[in-house]
Amino acid sequence: MEEKQKVFRIGPIRPPSEANSLLLQITEGCTWNRCKFCQLYKHSSFKAFSVDSIKNDIDMMAEYAEIARKYQRDDGSWNHKAFAEEMESMTYAEQNCFYMIYQWLINGGENVFLQDGNSLALRSQRVVEVLTYLRKRFPLIKRVTTYGRAETLSKISVEEYKELKAAGLDRIHSGFESGSDKVLELISKGVTAEQEITAGKNIKAAGIELSVYFMAGVGGKDLSEENALETARVVREINPDFVRIRTAVIKEGTELWREYQKGAYKLCSDNDKLLEIRKLIEYSQGCTGILVSDHIINLMQEVFGRLDQDREKMLSMIDRYFALPPDEQRLFQLARRSGMVSSLEDMSKIPKNRLLQMEQVCSRITDDSEWDEKINEMMMSYI
Ligand code: SF4
Repeated sequence: MEEKQKVFRIGPIRPPSEANSLLLQITEGCTWNRCKFCQLYKHSSFKAFSVDSIKNDIDMMAEYAEIARKYQRDDGSWNHKAFAEEMESMTYAEQNCFYMIYQWLINGGENVFLQDGNSLALRSQRVVEVLTYLRKRFPLIKRVTTYGRAETLSKISVEEYKELKAAGLDRIHSGFESGSDKVLELISKGVTAEQEITAGKNIKAAGIELSVYFMAGVGGKDLSEENALETARVVREINPDFVRIRTAVIKEGTELWREYQKGAYKLCSDNDKLLEIRKLIEYSQGCTGILVSDHIINLMQEVFGRLDQDREKMLSMIDRYFALPPDEQRLFQLARRSGMVSSLEDMSKIPKNRLLQMEQVCSRITDDSEWDEKINEMMMSYI
C-alpha cells in the first residue's frame, strides 16, 4: 500500500509583512472574485475548509516543528546540514512543508498568517475553534493575522470580533484600495466606503489591529483626486493602525486593462499616483496609524512613517521629488521601474554610461500617454 504523504495545505498569498510567518490555509480563493484589477483567483472558486481538516494541518505542522527543533543546537544556532539530510527522504510536497516550518522556526517561530484572500468569510465560531487549537498546539505564537474583504468584515459584529480577539486573532489586513464610492464602483470592489468604515470601527472597537491597503491611481486619471481625498476621509474616520500603499498597476488580461484598451479608462502617471499618496498623507489629520510602503511597486518606498508625527517629513520627501525638473523625474521613474534604485538618493550611484542610456530612452518617448503606458508595462513584472 502506498504511504500517505505528510503534507499540509499552503495557499498562494500573504502580505509582504508576513514573509516570516507560518501560513495556515483555512480557506481557498476569494468569495468575490470580481475586482476589475485582480486576476488572482479567476480560475478557482472559493472553498472553506472544515475545522477538522484545518486541525489536521496544524497537527502536521506541530509534528514537523518537533522534528525541526532537533536541529537547533544549545547555543541557538541551527544545523542546516542535518536538516537538509532529513529532507532527502521526503517527497517534493513534504519538503515544501518541512522547509516552511524550518524557516519559520529559524526566524523566531512567532507569527502565523491565516490564508487565503477572504478568510473571515468563514463563520466566526469556526475561526475561533481554529485559533484556539492553533494556540494550544503552538503556545509560543506571538501574533496571528489574516486577510478579510471589507464587505465581509462589515457584517461581523463587535462581539464576534471580541471573541476572535480573545481566541488569539491580533491583526486583520484588508484591501480597501479606495475610500471613494465612485472608484470602488469603477473597479467593481463590491463594497461601499460606509461599509469600510463600519468594518474598520468594529475591528478597532474589539482591540484587533487593522491594516488597510490604499491603491494609489486605481481610479484612473479622472478620479485621481477623488481617490486620494475620499480615502483620506475613510482613514480619518477609522484611524487604522497601518495604511499600506499599493500603487496601482493595470495588468494585461484584467477587466481594467480591457477598458483602458477601449479608451474608457485613463492610466494615471507615476506623478498622479505619488500626488495621491501626498494628498492622503496631507488630509489624514488626526490619524495616528503608520503609513507603510512595503512594496517595490511604490515609486518612493522611502516614504514611511506615522501619519501624525512624521507627516511633515513624508510630505517634504515627496516634495523633493516634485521639485526636480521633469526630465529628472522621468529618469528616476525609469531607474526605479528597472529595479536599479530603491530611493532618490541612489540616483547618484548609477554609472555614467547607464545614465546616458536611460536619458536616451527618456528622450525617445515624448508623448505623455506613451510614457505612462511604458511605465505601467514595466511595473507589470512586479505583481
Ligand atoms: S477581493 Fe481581493 S482577492 Fe477578491 S477579487 Fe478583489 S482583490 Fe482579488
